[in-house]
Amino acid sequence: MKRYKMVVDGEWISSKESIEVVNPFDGTIIGTVPRAGEEDIDRAIRSSGNAFNNFREKSGYERAKILERTSSLILEKKRVLGETISKEAGKALKFSLGEVDRAVQTFKFAAEEAKRIGGEIVPLDAAPGGEERFGYFLREPIGIIAAITPFNFPLNLVSHKVAPAIACGNTVILKPASSTPLTAIKLGELLIEAGLPRGVLNIIFGSGPTVGERLVRDERLSMITFTGSPPVGKRIKTQAGFKRVTLELGNNSAAVIDKRIDYGKYLSRFMVSAFANSGQMCISLQRVYIHKDFYNEFVKEFTDEVKTLKVGNPLDPEVDVGPMIDRKEAQRIESWVEEARDNGAKVLCGGKREGNIYYPTVLTGVGPEAKLITEEAFAPVVAITPYGSFDEALELVNSSKYGLQAGVFTDDNKKSFEAIKRLKVGGVMINDVPTFRADHMPYGGVKESGLGREGPRFAIEEMTNIKMVCFNLG
Ligand code: NDP
Repeated sequence: MKRYKMVVDGEWISSKESIEVVNPFDGTIIGTVPRAGEEDIDRAIRSSGNAFNNFREKSGYERAKILERTSSLILEKKRVLGETISKEAGKALKFSLGEVDRAVQTFKFAAEEAKRIGGEIVPLDAAPGGEERFGYFLREPIGIIAAITPFNFPLNLVSHKVAPAIACGNTVILKPASSTPLTAIKLGELLIEAGLPRGVLNIIFGSGPTVGERLVRDERLSMITFTGSPPVGKRIKTQAGFKRVTLELGNNSAAVIDKRIDYGKYLSRFMVSAFANSGQMCISLQRVYIHKDFYNEFVKEFTDEVKTLKVGNPLDPEVDVGPMIDRKEAQRIESWVEEARDNGAKVLCGGKREGNIYYPTVLTGVGPEAKLITEEAFAPVVAITPYGSFDEALELVNSSKYGLQAGVFTDDNKKSFEAIKRLKVGGVMINDVPTFRADHMPYGGVKESGLGREGPRFAIEEMTNIKMVCFNLG
């Protein structure tokens, strides 16, 4: 069992206490990481502050070069990164390798953006008193950013914070999820190999309520970029004081299906959308609302396909669905399905747990008050519900307290535009599952799904301050 280290001020260091990293499939301990103490945290913050003064002066070209090299190194190390994700997060290898490919793209997009962080001329003479003046605004890096990340995409979601932060000249203190720190270490190694200067990225470990909160409260930091659960996001927002805060939180993603589905074309997408990473994705398909004319056929086709999914060891390249992150989570979803069943829902497949594995589950007849509808399931579970009118379907999607992304299947342009206008979400996917994401698009939610947008160009907007410059030429 390897004892990994953390990166503080450019050095790989240990500490007195450590955290065990457990493979959620077989329960083996795959390594330990040091638990950061107060001194380590303080040193990481001081190091980030010192590094910021130099790093903000680095040219866009140089910052882009570091990110481009990192992108290439991630691709070179695809296998080892993919296996690390599968071992610590339990994600099926085929999806872990897909995550690595996406991180390659995320770093590439960030490298491109590093070269075009500009401003805009402001026509000051548009205002009375603005004659004989010349004005423009530019963007400056915000400072030290704490990146607090979840377990479910331990590489690409870290990349979505670290890469744009570097692109615009900030320094970062990364605190990854305690269950998945090893992928972050491997990414840190690659960034250092790519030439990232000392102190620009510190990686520290420890529990959210201790190390995470300590960062959130420290006044030397300028921003918290957080991806994780809604309750933690809310807490961070209240504790962060004057810092900028971006929150990428949960969802109970829905798809509205208003046409007969081309099963040959879409069934495999539905499977990935609902069951990849055991449904532990913020845009995992959880609620399907389908027109009553297509309901019976869809339920049968969908359920038959779910029964073909291979469940088991995430390192097996044939496996579709691995374990959930831990026993507690598997037991939680088991109880939610039981609650729905007790209230009259029908479980068409799955509905059982073996250790940390929860089998891909399809339900019908789930009431609107059930947790499986109102809360984020974050598990391989889908509830299919028929509707009568398109209007009703849009209302059902909007009845959620969340609003990240939604999918709408229709061949009627009028309905597409109606959905785009009325759905209270950050992204509408027409003729696609809510799970679609390209890494350069603006991504983020409304309502309790969060604040701010990711995608390198948009994250850079969040991670910079606008400075206005006015020349009096009179
Ligand atoms: P958590 O909110 O439990 O944890 C996320 C991170 O926050 C971890 O690093 C955790 O540390 C840390 N943390 C926990 N408590 C605090 C605290 N009080 N102060 C500061 N940091 C804290 O989320 P999960 O890891 O369980 O991830 C699942 C959630 O993430 C789901 O709700 C999912 O929807 C959401 N998510 C959202 C995405 C989006 O883009 N909108 C994408 C992916 C996931 P530790 O691990 O030590 O507890």
